[in-house]
Amino acid sequence: MGPIGHLGIGFAAKPVSPKAPLWVLLVASEVLDILSFVFVAIGFEEVSMNLSEFIQGNTVISVPWSHGLGMSVLWSLLATTITFLIYRDRRTASIIGLVVFSHWVLDFIVHTPDLPLFFSGSPLVGLGLWKTNTGLIFSFILEIVLMVGGVALYLKARNRINDLAK
Ligand SMILES: [Zn+2]
Repeated sequence: MGPIGHLGIGFAAKPVSPKAPLWVLLVASEVLDILSFVFVAIGFEEVSMNLSEFIQGNTVISVPWSHGLGMSVLWSLLATTITFLIYRDRRTASIIGLVVFSHWVLDFIVHTPDLPLFFSGSPLVGLGLWKTNTGLIFSFILEIVLMVGGVALYLKARNRINDLAK
């Protein structure tokens, strides 16, 4: 999934976790990609920089540390723990953990099977929505729906809070 869809989840999470600033939720939705960026930089992971090849699943992509299912669960639990220590609020912490994990779920829907369950050598998964043209169009629509829906939920909640403050 591209960044737009992920960020939509961050916006949508704001009304249900008022204690967390919006930027924290937006960062949470992109944590796995941020980690991947770091892991690629230090040589732990490999991602093709050619977008069209990447989408078609023709090139090498190896992202076990950032996007492995097992590691994604671990990153989500880590995010939950860290944010609990900061906000001292179970609900906020669990929602942030879920936002981090939502990234894996959305990537799982669109990626060609290149997301490992654990580390290299473990089965690769992905429903591959990106593989066909129709799927690709559908995934773009899905991204826009997530973004528009997320921002709408966020704005609706913000207006309600402003109305209460009046
Ligand atoms: Zn990703």
